[in-house]
Amino acid sequence: MKSEPSPVRDPVAAQATPRDLGHFIAGRFVPGNSGRTARVYNPTTGMVAANIALASSTETQTAISAADAALPGWRGTTPLARARILFRFKELVERNAAELAGLITAEHGKVLGDARGELTRGLEVVEFACGIPHLLKGEFSENVGSDVDSWSLRQPVGVCAGVTPFNFPTMVPMWMFPIAIACGNTFVLKPSERDPSPPLRLAELLQEAGLPDGVFNVVNGDKEAVDTLLGDPRIGAVSFVGSTPVAEYIYSEGSRHGKRVQALGGAKNHMVVMPDADLEMAVSALMGAAYGSAGERCMAISVAVAVGDIADSLVARLAERVQSLRVGPGTDAAVDMGPLVTGNHRDKVLGYVDAGVAEGATLVVDGRRLRVAGFEEGFFLGGCLFDDVTPEMRIYREEIFGPVLCVVRVPDLDSAITLVNRHEYGNGTAIFTRDGDSSRRFTQRIEAGMIGINIPIPVPMAFHSFGGWKRSLFGPLHMHGADGVRFYTRLKTVTGRWPTGPAQRAEFSMPTMK
Ligand code: NAD
Repeated sequence: MKSEPSPVRDPVAAQATPRDLGHFIAGRFVPGNSGRTARVYNPTTGMVAANIALASSTETQTAISAADAALPGWRGTTPLARARILFRFKELVERNAAELAGLITAEHGKVLGDARGELTRGLEVVEFACGIPHLLKGEFSENVGSDVDSWSLRQPVGVCAGVTPFNFPTMVPMWMFPIAIACGNTFVLKPSERDPSPPLRLAELLQEAGLPDGVFNVVNGDKEAVDTLLGDPRIGAVSFVGSTPVAEYIYSEGSRHGKRVQALGGAKNHMVVMPDADLEMAVSALMGAAYGSAGERCMAISVAVAVGDIADSLVARLAERVQSLRVGPGTDAAVDMGPLVTGNHRDKVLGYVDAGVAEGATLVVDGRRLRVAGFEEGFFLGGCLFDDVTPEMRIYREEIFGPVLCVVRVPDLDSAITLVNRHEYGNGTAIFTRDGDSSRRFTQRIEAGMIGINIPIPVPMAFHSFGGWKRSLFGPLHMHGADGVRFYTRLKTVTGRWPTGPAQRAEFSMPTMK
């Protein structure tokens, strides 16, 4: 296998000539050899930044073999030694944060501050995983029977795979691999083909931190690579984050092949604004949650549910703020919102805005004609605001994943709860109110995995777990926190005695303890 020099270190120079990006297998960059590639864009300029190799099944198997070969050595290291490598990794990510954020902005388009924020949220999972000696301590019961002890321990699953989306190219992989490798597993990551440089750089930093070759591998690709991961018997667990149709496919295919799977899907997050809410607080929360990262967040608020007589003032205030959104290159510190990730995705979002108008919703702010001077070929779209949206409309039912906020008007809290609960997605939701009763009724009755009370994007911290309900999550376990440790370990319970006690007679009935 030929080793390549690091292709991901200089994103600025790379804008002039597209780089060729391959894979990171067994501690080395390796070029792709399938003959298939995809384009990676700089969404701000619309230029091609790189050509990413799309792995064949054979190349994907090479990565799995590297992870499989590294497994016995790695699972044999102590949790303490694994944690120390993660401590060094955390320090390296912090030291290289500016460069990593630059890579994220160059391929995703989000503003630099947001890219730094995603890195911080990812690092929090690394910090959590650094506590792995404590997290793996297990349980012990003395004398479950006379002179019989019993204890439970958690052991690694084996080779784990992660398949991740474009919208958080570092944070979502960091929801997965720090805990997986801390638990003694090895890992093959298949990141999004739309912004692959940041995860490749993370692989380099893990190696610099002292991670043995083959413990963490990155294979770039599309369905062929993913299907290989799903079918290979050496993979024990698959973590997925992405859109719901793919999540459902990964869950059923992975399960069919006997793997444990956690597959997080899409979302349509509602924020309920009660008549007694602090209007300015609610409007500011909606602005950040709907238009931050150009709406390309699984926890973005895409529906504002205006309850009772707050609707007119809410829409009027939102309209002013959406019109004054500053849209431009993510590297400009004065900008609120960067471009969308690709031209195709921008066109898809534009199609939804057209559909909303055709379906009869009121387009209060129309961002479709926005042009950013000097970046006319960039994939920009201005903020869009719809009022009078109804549950039958496509713009309400489907995930748009762009800077489009829909306002639905309802008369009271019960109608708001019914509306949220009838939606097929149940990722996150929020209520803005000053009333304790309303927030309590809402949190008790709402069917979603993550709830905010006067917090628009209630992303759980690393020591809690992240996941939705309904068609936003397939599989029983959420990501990171205690669920992350459960997912990446197999439970083993031992019951034993020493042969010093009284001689045992053969027992032919179900053994019970005395
Ligand atoms: P996507 O589903 O298109 O792609 C996700 C991953 O799956 C990528 O690595 C991609 O290469 C792979 N993939 C795509 N099609 C495939 C197929 N047919 N077979 C096998 N693999 C395939 O998602 P995206 O556009 O990259 O990301 C946006 C989506 O991710 C949104 O729906 C968003 O809500 C969701 N998301 C969810 C969460 C969450 O926590 N629930 C977090 C982030 C993003």
